Amino acid sequence: MKSDAVLLHVPVGVWQKMIAYVTICSTEINGFGLVDVIGPNEFALSDVFITDQVAAAAKVEWTELGLALCITDLINRGDDPRRLRFQWHSHVNMQAFFSDIDTGGIEKWSGDWLISLVVNKHGEYEVRLDMFKSLRIRNIPVTIVFDNPIDPDLIAQCQADIAQHVSQPKPHKIKVTRYVPGFTDFLDIATGDDQYA
Ligand SMILES: [Zn+2]
Repeated sequence: MKSDAVLLHVPVGVWQKMIAYVTICSTEINGFGLVDVIGPNEFALSDVFITDQVAAAAKVEWTELGLALCITDLINRGDDPRRLRFQWHSHVNMQAFFSDIDTGGIEKWSGDWLISLVVNKHGEYEVRLDMFKSLRIRNIPVTIVFDNPIDPDLIAQCQADIAQHVSQPKPHKIKVTRYVPGFTDFLDIATGDDQYA
């Protein structure tokens, strides 16, 4: 991976939520998401959701009112509405690419920058970053990094299971016997530490 690549970290749970919307919905569907800058050329997506929209088999349009209500919601819960920097939509079973309609929609974005993603029901996707200020830079390639943090409760459970069931080997004396032809009994030939308790 090139060091100057733009990375978008996506927790697996957030990705699954988006894919669930896409899988369940028989038409195109559009949503947004919250993004934070976590480093140079590095972003993190923390949630995806849908707003009021008019969706058809091959077209979807979010409403200004739906987006405005969503922004009001963010403000009401003390969140920074500028975190709304991610827009995604589904092409249902069609190829996942940015159509002229999609790029036309991106041009209308009023923020400083936006990460856009188009996905389909097969899980194929394209993702791009657009800068609007101070320079207008279009279609900067973005690489998604899927983050899969382990749930802290699950870690605690596994630690308890390991403490209960897993112990360290204890050296102990064993007697090694071997059958020697001509002798009627097994012959003790050695004793030592068992390395493989
Ligand atoms: Zn589209």
